[in-house]
Amino acid sequence: MATAKQKLGDWGEKLVASTCACPSCKRSKTTRLLPPNFKCADIICDFCGYLSQVKTARVKDVRVLPKNLLGAAWGPQRERMQAGVYFPLYVVLKDNAGNSSVNFLSADLQVPEMFQSRNPLSAGAKRAGWQGFTINCEVVRDRFVRLS
Ligand SMILES: [Zn+2]
Repeated sequence: MATAKQKLGDWGEKLVASTCACPSCKRSKTTRLLPPNFKCADIICDFCGYLSQVKTARVKDVRVLPKNLLGAAWGPQRERMQAGVYFPLYVVLKDNAGNSSVNFLSADLQVPEMFQSRNPLSAGAKRAGWQGFTINCEVVRDRFVRLS
């Protein structure tokens, strides 16, 4: 059973895949979802191979990016940054009335400071010791482009 958070994430990925042209080759209807266990990206253009991440969040106002978005595991993200590897990021926002917006940040506009490690989960947690990160949108707020 998918959790509400997973369902929201799946919805956001499908929205991007069905409505956004590929930022690289500009073709439409070429974006495909990657399998859930594919770690570095969520979607791929099956014409040019452009990889992107998609983050979806529930917000009060879809015109305003939230301060923080929940990222994934910190270890791989830190290693990618050390290697200078960044992936284009779509941020899909949805409000309770059903309005949505799609915002895009290309890889070359991303900076290490926008990825901030969180404290490792405490000993009592299900995944004790696991460390995640947040994406701080404040750092790059004016670099996002609103697509829809
Ligand atoms: Zn493409």
